[in-house]
Amino acid sequence: MKLSRREFLKRLGAFSLIGSAWGGSQSKTQAKSGLSGLPITDAHEHVSYQGRTLDVFDDLIERYPDFIARIKEAGLWDWFQRERQQAQPLAEAFSIWDTAGVSGCILLAGGFEREKPNFKYEFAELAQYILLDKYPNRFLIASTVDFSMMDEPDFSAKAVAHLEETYKKGCRGLGEIKLHPPYHHMPLDDPRLDPLWETCVRLKIPAHVHVAQPDRYWQPGGPYYRNPDIPSKQSLLDAFERVVKKHPNTTFIAVHMGTNPERLDYLARMLDAYKNYYLDTSAIVWVIEGLGKDPEAGRTFVTKYQDRIVFGGEPRNLRDYMDYRRFFETDETVRGYRGLKLPPEVLQKIYYQNIERLVPEVKHLRDR
Ligand SMILES: [Zn+2]
Repeated sequence: MKLSRREFLKRLGAFSLIGSAWGGSQSKTQAKSGLSGLPITDAHEHVSYQGRTLDVFDDLIERYPDFIARIKEAGLWDWFQRERQQAQPLAEAFSIWDTAGVSGCILLAGGFEREKPNFKYEFAELAQYILLDKYPNRFLIASTVDFSMMDEPDFSAKAVAHLEETYKKGCRGLGEIKLHPPYHHMPLDDPRLDPLWETCVRLKIPAHVHVAQPDRYWQPGGPYYRNPDIPSKQSLLDAFERVVKKHPNTTFIAVHMGTNPERLDYLARMLDAYKNYYLDTSAIVWVIEGLGKDPEAGRTFVTKYQDRIVFGGEPRNLRDYMDYRRFFETDETVRGYRGLKLPPEVLQKIYYQNIERLVPEVKHLRDR
């Protein structure tokens, strides 16, 4: 999608009207111009997020009767119907993206649980195929690992075969790999995953990895505080670093700013040490706080590593997209933190050029 500046500003006007429907407390100043109008390719989205699933339910019923039969057999038909009632109409999602200047999204596969059968995993995967098929100019999709198979002796071979098969069906990424608590099924540096990281090299696709959680989860009042069953944040980060080091030809996109935006010094060290290590900007509150608590340091960091950061949004909500824009593009106060006011050449890299270099197939999203 190429929005002319006029068209973009016109849509920003529309944003101020529909903003309230999205629970945003944004002021009218948000709708003011001063924003670049540069297109964004969102490298971190899901079929389902924050309780609302993109509406693919009729297509699922029509195209995958076997899946539906198994859902019914498993007693999950009520769940399916509930999801369907709360689904987000695609037109609504597309209108948000159009208003915010988001050309398209990479859908990262979900279903991180390990119960058998892993219906959430299957659901997300089938939903992605439907979306890619029907809206190839809005979506690119990624594939992930079904950890319900992890105890089977040929787990690695099966996971590799699955990744190769999904590649043939259009997947252009591995992930989101989420092995942090509460999905800590195995450490990230488990050797059973090595063949997968190497398959990414062969297929020339990145691996999107979610490593840890915010520091506060481990602090007093947080869910992992003094929980002996939960590994420390540092041990999770260390396991991932061993993976990044062991597989120098695999491109790793560490989502949510490496899940450590609290520590720009850590991120800088990783970026300097490993040329195959990239960051995405998803998790708006966490990332804005990390980059905005010292805006000079934040701007210096993003400017220095402008070739290594890709835009990730994740929540499908207009206010978040607009706040990202305001935070990156202006020096207004966004959620309590002063914006970074990055120059257009840096914004272009983060918004779409870097991800187009890593995943050339996303280029067509901007041509819509
Ligand atoms: Zn995610």
